[in-house]
Amino acid sequence: MEATSQYKRLLPPMRGLARDFYGYCKQHELRFQKCSSCGAWRHVPREMCPDCGSFDYEWAKSAGKGKVFSWSTTSQPMLPQFADAVPYAIVIVELDEGVRMATWVVDVPPDQLRIGLPVEVQFDDVTEEVTLPKFRLRKQA
Ligand code: ZN
Repeated sequence: MEATSQYKRLLPPMRGLARDFYGYCKQHELRFQKCSSCGAWRHVPREMCPDCGSFDYEWAKSAGKGKVFSWSTTSQPMLPQFADAVPYAIVIVELDEGVRMATWVVDVPPDQLRIGLPVEVQFDDVTEEVTLPKFRLRKQA
């Protein structure tokens, strides 16, 4: 873990529903909004259910397991803070609950990513205040 002043990369805005989402990450829990009316899971956080229009929801705990849905590989860093990370892939992971999120898969190089690769969440405490949900390869039973 690095102190906030030493972490050079961008941090998520800690306000509104994002603050709630990352607050659970800080506790090493991956939670998504789940509609109290129709039961649909959703991400990114938003006030209204896109399926039924309800404003009622809970922060339901995800099992943290999913698979690689898609990814985009960056070879030229757009920001100097990422110069030591290239090439890297921003991966869309589809969780077993049905939501998709943009994240990192930490232990698979971009050229070895495959659609459907099974992954599970792990938490990276990048500062004292911020924990980022990332993923690692899941061993298949
Ligand atoms: Zn709904």
